[in-house]
Amino acid sequence: MPEIAEVETVRRTLKKQILNKEIKKVEVLYSKMLLSDVEEFKTILKGNCFNDIDRRGKWLIFELNEHYLLSHLRMEGKFFLKNSQEKKEKHEHIIITFSDNTDLRYHDTRKFGRMELIKKEELKKNVQIQKQGFEPGEEGLTSNYLLEKFKKKQIPIKTLLLDQTIISGLGNIYANEVLFASKINPFKKGCEITKNEAENIVVMSKEIIEKAITLGGTTIKSYTSSLGVTGRFQQELKVHKREDLPCLHCQTPIKRSKINGRSTYYCPKCQKVG
Ligand SMILES: [Zn+2]
Repeated sequence: MPEIAEVETVRRTLKKQILNKEIKKVEVLYSKMLLSDVEEFKTILKGNCFNDIDRRGKWLIFELNEHYLLSHLRMEGKFFLKNSQEKKEKHEHIIITFSDNTDLRYHDTRKFGRMELIKKEELKKNVQIQKQGFEPGEEGLTSNYLLEKFKKKQIPIKTLLLDQTIISGLGNIYANEVLFASKINPFKKGCEITKNEAENIVVMSKEIIEKAITLGGTTIKSYTSSLGVTGRFQQELKVHKREDLPCLHCQTPIKRSKINGRSTYYCPKCQKVG
């Protein structure tokens, strides 16, 4: 699943390729992935151009003249830039053709991704965008903010780190890495997190996400960003997917468990309970 660093890599890559090019044609081959009316979507995009691409959490925000196109890649969504002459692939569901005969093609094997067109003034009211919590590295993400969010929670810290309304953009891979770097047991309840541990989460999430973005994200399973850019953060993973391998700090074999259905990797010694 693309995480914040992957989505940021896609944003930066697309920004170099598609801005200020006139949209000539729009094809919607799977309309359920659009939360907007198909005909309206085509009409608004045609003749328009993307002026900028922003991001909030894992949402990409494409700026048009009077609208925003919101896009969430979910599990398998990818954008490809192709020559318009190129044969259409099976899972290319939305094709936006520019006047220079290049296409922006949205590819999604599992069809979980979503796109929505909204008027610019609606962005402030958009629930999906506004409910996002602070991002790693953002000023508002402080230990006090986290303690306030965690204090009544009886559920594992691992699950809380994946809650996008608390921290926006941390997915399973980075949540595992942040907890390992912060020496926090993933099963520890939110309400038991100390000030010191919350401080570690703030510092480590910033450090890990910044590094992942610099390296273009992490490529695991089917994820590749647009233009076949391959993330190199995979080589930097300290705990994720390292089951039974020795902990890089203490040599204890790394354990794997499921928390809320998600694979959780941790060192039972470095990340002791309590
Ligand atoms: Zn260890």
